[in-house]
Amino acid sequence: MIAFRNTIILVVVISLFTFIALFGRLPALRKTPIGFSHRLLCIYIPNGFRQVDSRYTGGRMNANIAQLSNYLFHQKNPLVLLLFLVLLTGSATLFLRAALPHLSTSLILPIPFVVLAPYTFTYLCVTRKTDYITHANHAPAMRQYPYDHILFRPDNLCRTCNFTKPARSKHCSLCGVCVARCDHHCAWINNCVGRHNYRYFLLLLLSIGIVELYGAYLSWSVLSPHLHLGHSKYGWLEKQYWAELGNAFVFAMSIGGISVAGVGLLAITTMPLPFALFAYHLYLIWAGMTTNESAKWADWRDDMTDGMAWIGKRSVIEAHNKERKARHLRNRNRMSGLAGPVPDSDEDEEEYVPWPKHSDQTLVSTTDGKAPTGQEQLWERCMSLDMVENIYDLGFWRNFVAVMTGR
Ligand SMILES: [Zn+2]
Ligand SMILES: [Zn+2]
Repeated sequence: MIAFRNTIILVVVISLFTFIALFGRLPALRKTPIGFSHRLLCIYIPNGFRQVDSRYTGGRMNANIAQLSNYLFHQKNPLVLLLFLVLLTGSATLFLRAALPHLSTSLILPIPFVVLAPYTFTYLCVTRKTDYITHANHAPAMRQYPYDHILFRPDNLCRTCNFTKPARSKHCSLCGVCVARCDHHCAWINNCVGRHNYRYFLLLLLSIGIVELYGAYLSWSVLSPHLHLGHSKYGWLEKQYWAELGNAFVFAMSIGGISVAGVGLLAITTMPLPFALFAYHLYLIWAGMTTNESAKWADWRDDMTDGMAWIGKRSVIEAHNKERKARHLRNRNRMSGLAGPVPDSDEDEEEYVPWPKHSDQTLVSTTDGKAPTGQEQLWERCMSLDMVENIYDLGFWRNFVAVMTGR
């Protein structure tokens, strides 16, 4: 009974921490208990500890912990990947050794495919690095997506890589490179999820969900003949029903032990994570954005809620700025007695990138909540993201095909 209770507690704690670690940083959960727990674990508790340590040991423990956490969280390291592989291999071995003799051939046949799939997609996620942008492939990377002038603008330089950041790319400080169509850096695969390996990442999530679902099903098929569930005379709202169910689980543990019942329980309780993460990424594909872009859209939404975001027509604003600059130069020439034509523009022309969807919108955020000075008539207050067009959203099916073909 104690072993059973400890297993349940361990499984629940592992599931909870994994859930908070995976989902806590999502912009959509920023203001929920999950987001708060993530901040509590990653910011508030470490800050509190730092203060106590600097008072009593002069910050010695902190220096060591900072070194360790720097390695764990701010440097590329394979620890999470190894932990995942050890957990998967350990659970599968433990489970199959105990369960195989009790399974029918039809249940055994899919096992090699179901078990090998997560390893295959992990390998593909980890080893595909072609979405890294270097000086050699920078020119074609610039032609992959146009700038939307809202989330991505052509005047954005990467000072580390020393080139203009292509639209939809992001510099990853852990990988030390700019990544094309960067979604996020994933500690799980010790690599960035981007343009080429995003499809393998999705398939990895799906395959982990399936291996857990199938494991739980096999566990159930081994144990269910002994459990006599479904014959309860109590309704599921009655206390006795749950007492019976609890007893059945205790009984299941006594028959299957940690190998079958424990692994089965771990599979059931952690299964929602890969499926939920997979569903979240399907939502992102439906919305035509990456995780990185969803954070940028969330920032714009906050600015809109605070009444600080303004929307305008890019062509009109650019023409206005060009005219103002030319006027300024003419005045300067007149004052200094210089003659001659005013140069057209010294700005680099943005390269044309063929793309099915265009937008002439641009957004600006002001700190005082007022329209940009001198251009008040050109801007309209932007109250909602519904007013803004996302040119990267080509509709669910086209977005999905683009992702699955590595574009
Ligand atoms: Zn870079
Ligand atoms: Zn990275």
